[in-house]
Amino acid sequence: MEDYPRLKELEQELEEKNRKLKDLIQENKSVKKSLEKLQEEVNQFKGLVHSSTSLITFLKGPEYVIEFANESIKNIWGKESDVEGKPLFEVIPEVQEQGIEEYLHQVYHKGEPFHATGLPVEHEVKGKRIQSYFDFSYMPQYDLNGKINGVGVIAQNTTEQEILNQKIKQSEFKYRDLIHSSNSLIAILKGPDMVVEIANDAIKSVWGKGDDVVGRQLFEVLPEMIEQGMPELFNKVYETGEPHIAREMPIKHNQNGELKLGYFDFVYQPQKNIKGEIDGVAIIANDVTNQGILNERIKESEKEFRELVNFMPHKICMTNPEGEPVFYNDSWLNYTGKSMKELLNISWYSLIDIEDIDRVEQAVNDSLESGDDLELELRILDKNVEAKWHLVKATAIVNEEGSITSWITSSTEIQKLKEEEQRKEGFLKLVSHELKTPVTSIKGYVQLLLSILQESTEKEDSPFKPYLNRIETQVERLIRLISEMLDLSRIEQNELELKKEKFFLNELVEHIIEDISFSNKEVQIELDYFCECEVYADKDRIGQVIINFITNALKYSPNGNRVNVKVFNESETNVGVSVKDFGIGIDNKELNKIFNRFYRVATKNDNTYAGFGIGLYLSDEIIKRHSGKIFVKSELGEGSEFTFTLPIN
Ligand code: ADP
Repeated sequence: MEDYPRLKELEQELEEKNRKLKDLIQENKSVKKSLEKLQEEVNQFKGLVHSSTSLITFLKGPEYVIEFANESIKNIWGKESDVEGKPLFEVIPEVQEQGIEEYLHQVYHKGEPFHATGLPVEHEVKGKRIQSYFDFSYMPQYDLNGKINGVGVIAQNTTEQEILNQKIKQSEFKYRDLIHSSNSLIAILKGPDMVVEIANDAIKSVWGKGDDVVGRQLFEVLPEMIEQGMPELFNKVYETGEPHIAREMPIKHNQNGELKLGYFDFVYQPQKNIKGEIDGVAIIANDVTNQGILNERIKESEKEFRELVNFMPHKICMTNPEGEPVFYNDSWLNYTGKSMKELLNISWYSLIDIEDIDRVEQAVNDSLESGDDLELELRILDKNVEAKWHLVKATAIVNEEGSITSWITSSTEIQKLKEEEQRKEGFLKLVSHELKTPVTSIKGYVQLLLSILQESTEKEDSPFKPYLNRIETQVERLIRLISEMLDLSRIEQNELELKKEKFFLNELVEHIIEDISFSNKEVQIELDYFCECEVYADKDRIGQVIINFITNALKYSPNGNRVNVKVFNESETNVGVSVKDFGIGIDNKELNKIFNRFYRVATKNDNTYAGFGIGLYLSDEIIKRHSGKIFVKSELGEGSEFTFTLPIN
């Protein structure tokens, strides 16, 4: 029994131990469970790390032996497996020199984590060196005693991003370089306050405010623009997004305290951010000051020209090269009672008296074709449809290449002059008529006296004879003058009748030369004829032309009496007569005027050569009425050659 308590004690002890054992088993189970859970978590983590796109490796010891490296980092290294257990720089020796070792040392020995972004690293993959960029984090790893025993590396491959960034930077650089090297004036303004973000040298030099403009508000840099309405323009572009384009806009810039006027072609272009919102305005401009000043001057001189032309009493009209009017001066508007628009909308032929139209059209067309100046008299209708005589002159304006750019015409009213002329003509006609009969009878009596004298003093010459001969010559001149005057009015009234007949032109020329030589013993007229040409014409009128040519040749040769006359075939259908002298000749610019009525070439002493300026006018009219041509070749001081042609019968 003594032992019984002991047994009980043992029993209790056993029970106690059993309970403890049970507890222990229980505890062991939960530790196992925790361990299993932990293992599961480690596995999950390992899986995550293995398949992560981040580059992960754990390096152990001072040799940086690779304890673990995930797939991504192995890919970058270009090593598929077998890297664990090897020192890092044995696996990728090429990076040792690239500063990586120093970073690792810093972490391993000093315990300072290291982070870097966009770090360039060169790898050797299949014998080729490849440049890549990485964001790195190196972190110290500790053992259970808190001592550093390795380095954990986690990195991101940012190569694509980096290359993109570099491209963006490069293109931005190029774009800035382009802006800065451009001759155009370029500035980029940001935000509603128009802060200068970029301004190239060209625009800075025009602004004249030095280099220090970037980062400042535009109108703080250029206060002089405010008065010139620029802020409103910029705001409009900024608010509406509509670009503003201007040509030759005058703008004043304050350069060194002096307001300088310049002219610019420019665009204010809205600038948008990537979201498409307007965040600024670009100025792209060209300095066209020289051209602007030139155009201003042209405008001024055009204004002066208009004022001058409108001030003139003459009617001035400008036409295009084809002769179509483009401008009439005030004198035209007042005379016709029409506005410029109305005048430009009608044909200017409608302003001409119907009787003159054909003649004018012919002359105008000839001028337009040849480019020669035009001068003619015609009647122009006024606002009351009354026709008034005008002297119209037109001249072509020719550019440097020699092409006609326009015509300028000036019309001067000569109505009063014409009326005066008509009165004079009427008077001359009357006088000529009245003189014709008495002068003809004087000639008859002189000839009668001469023949009586001839009979009564058969042998010896009468002392009166030379005087009577002189009277006869003077009377003949008078008769010729009177008949010219009468012819003149006949032509004016279109009453010149032609009595046509067939005759040999060379015979007529011969007779006339004989007659003239008979009464002018001292003259020497040579005749060459190359054809015996029959014509159908008014013999007296053609004779009149030949006499006019020969008497002029003699009259205008004060130092000689030699005249050459030629009858020749001008063409198969035309015969020509020319009279050549070696006298004073005619200035080139007078040549087309000498056939005008009453026109005489002015000489130093107007009395040197007597005449009225009618002979050539009549000759011209006579030849024209025979469908022939009349022309002259002459050189001042050398002599002249007058020619007319007639159709062969
Ligand atoms: P006029 O009676 O004045 O001679 P014309 O009509 O015959 O009139 O000639 C017109 C003008 O032409 C003359 O005034 C003269 O200036 C010029 N002229 C005509 N023929 C000749 C010539 N042979 N030589 C020089 N000038 C001439």
